[in-house]
Amino acid sequence: MLGDDSSHAARNTPSESAARYAEVVVDLPLTEPLTYRVGEVDGDAAAGACCVVQVGRREVIGVCVGLREAAPLAEERIRPIKRWLGEIGSLDAHWLAFTRFAAEYYQHAWGQVAVASLPPLLRSPPGPRWASSLKRLRADGGRSASTAQAAVAAPELNAEQRAAVDAVSAQRGFAPTLLHGVTGSGKTEVYLTAIERLLAGEPQAQALLLVPEIGLTPQLQARLRDRFPLQPIVCLHSGLPAAERSAAWLAAHEGRARIVLGTRLAVFASLPRLRLLVVDEEHDASYKAGDGVRYSARDLAVKRAQMLGAPVLLGSATPALESWAQARQGRYRLLRLPQRATEAAQPQVEMVDLRQHKPVNGLAGPLRAALEQTIACGEQALVFINRRGYAPVVGCGACGWLSTCPQCAVFAAYHKTDGALHCHHCGWRRPVPRCCPTCGNQDLDAVGHGTQRLEETLRAALPAARILRIDRDSTRRRGAAGAALAAVHAGATDVLVGTQMIAKGHDFQRVSLVGIVNADAQLVSHDFRAPERLFATILQVAGRAGRSGLPSRVLVQTRYPEHPLFAALRRFDYDGFARSQLAERQAAGLPPFVPQALLTAQAKSLEAALGFLGHARSLGRRLDGQATLYDPVPMPLARLAGVFRAQMLVEAPQRSLLQGFLRQWLGQLREAGPPPGQRVRWQIEVDPQEI
Ligand code: ADP
Ligand code: ZN
Ligand code: ZN
Repeated sequence: MLGDDSSHAARNTPSESAARYAEVVVDLPLTEPLTYRVGEVDGDAAAGACCVVQVGRREVIGVCVGLREAAPLAEERIRPIKRWLGEIGSLDAHWLAFTRFAAEYYQHAWGQVAVASLPPLLRSPPGPRWASSLKRLRADGGRSASTAQAAVAAPELNAEQRAAVDAVSAQRGFAPTLLHGVTGSGKTEVYLTAIERLLAGEPQAQALLLVPEIGLTPQLQARLRDRFPLQPIVCLHSGLPAAERSAAWLAAHEGRARIVLGTRLAVFASLPRLRLLVVDEEHDASYKAGDGVRYSARDLAVKRAQMLGAPVLLGSATPALESWAQARQGRYRLLRLPQRATEAAQPQVEMVDLRQHKPVNGLAGPLRAALEQTIACGEQALVFINRRGYAPVVGCGACGWLSTCPQCAVFAAYHKTDGALHCHHCGWRRPVPRCCPTCGNQDLDAVGHGTQRLEETLRAALPAARILRIDRDSTRRRGAAGAALAAVHAGATDVLVGTQMIAKGHDFQRVSLVGIVNADAQLVSHDFRAPERLFATILQVAGRAGRSGLPSRVLVQTRYPEHPLFAALRRFDYDGFARSQLAERQAAGLPPFVPQALLTAQAKSLEAALGFLGHARSLGRRLDGQATLYDPVPMPLARLAGVFRAQMLVEAPQRSLLQGFLRQWLGQLREAGPPPGQRVRWQIEVDPQEI
């Protein structure tokens, strides 16, 4: 849960007739709203109204956050509002307060959250045909309500599911609930029934269902439409064409959409009758925005529910330790679905000891044998590896040269499909050199394994099997991922090999074997969250096995089979794993016990980036407060696309202390700017997920 200060109401508004000035936020890093004259025709002036204003020489979209009678600066310096966009109804006071909270919490300008979250339709001042396009969008948004048909009957809920639905539906007011249930335990069924009850009791109400990935939405979307054929449902995610996204946003904003299914950005949707929030796979890293305002949609969903006084349901098989700690401390209600909902038993998890079974081209004997057996039975297997390409690096055995990206401090991966070296971070690409650039040796080796090489290995080992690879490279074409997954569902594939993309959500019916090829990289990572992610990933991939009741196995190749993480995995013991991780974190003074923020700097040289952070640290140390500022260090990926990057960690014993410190410190830092003569870009990330 984010800070507990929920006193952020929209600014006081005097009676609108007396108001002569409007305070407007725009998508720019400004500490305060801008002031404009309301204008002569002021019928549309209101807090929450969208408008067009001039900033410098540009005309931009703004949101009015308050009205006032007196001018805060000389009258002649105040420009008039160019235009009120009265065709779009005002954003409500809750939405204003919520976006303001998010901006303050993540240390950005209000407008950078509020205005930046508006749909494409409201990203630039309207052109001449705006009015007619609005009409079209409204018609589109209405079409999502499917033609009348009978709803697909829901299965009868088991006792645990009923308890979970009751916990959500019977609540009045803010009620955060953490639903811990293994994959296939019927969590989605709980979400759907809770939504169903809400809409039955309050036909105008709206529900927001957040999911981690765009890839997951088609399946869930179909399930929602089957279940609620008469309810207007819209989807909101960044992969939508601009018009579709605008139409969906508008349907939500105008209260026409009852159910909004979306990825992280949907947490900012305007939903005037929002009564229930659900966050599926709440632990998933994609709820955290990777650039711009680094918000966590999961955390904000909880905050939004709190501000609304509404229930919020977080569901996961492997809750984030942050959420787990909240539940342990009694701040979230914890409910469990301990069994799979159908007859299907959990798969058996086994370790393949790579010290004992030498892998051949990445594949050890026991996994190979299990694959053969599975295919012989006419069942399907899934082989997971978290690296795409053929090999992560090309090397010279004679002199030790390794392929690196010239612009980033990383290895360049070898892709056999186009015979080129690729940088997975900046997109740099070059044919593999014919000989070693250092010593001229013509025998270069592909070192390590990626999806393409694993696919090759599997084809050689299982010549009769139908093998399909799914990763970002194989699914670049629009629709390719859907087609590939359909092939698996149709039984046209025996072995599916791929990255994270195959781990999530898909309900494959005939998968009875899951192989995990290189788990060890994450066991020995420098990132304190790596074990948590590894545990979640393996359980998630394991969740693909045995869904229709086939007895199933999960084989994990590792050099450390006796590692406690694997012992917990074998027993599906999330509780035990979480307990030991939280104890370690508490002892080490790490999140969720100690809140953190990360200041990052980018510059033309590492010295400049580090120098800026040093300067920021001395500014920070002059402020009195209980924040700890650590030494500036190069980021784990210290050079990206030719830019050098460094970071500095900031901690405080309490969230409120950290927030107070950041506000003061960043204010000074903005004012002071970088040291003279240095061009440095910097960002702040509150609650960083990767350090
Ligand atoms: P999760 O979201 O936890 O992975 P789902 O809600 O998708 O689980 O349920 C997994 C499968 O079990 C689905 O096919 C679903 O229809 C079925 N299911 C869920 N609840 C029940 C139930 N109470 N009785 C029978 N089948 C159920
Ligand atoms: Zn060489
Ligand atoms: Zn690169």
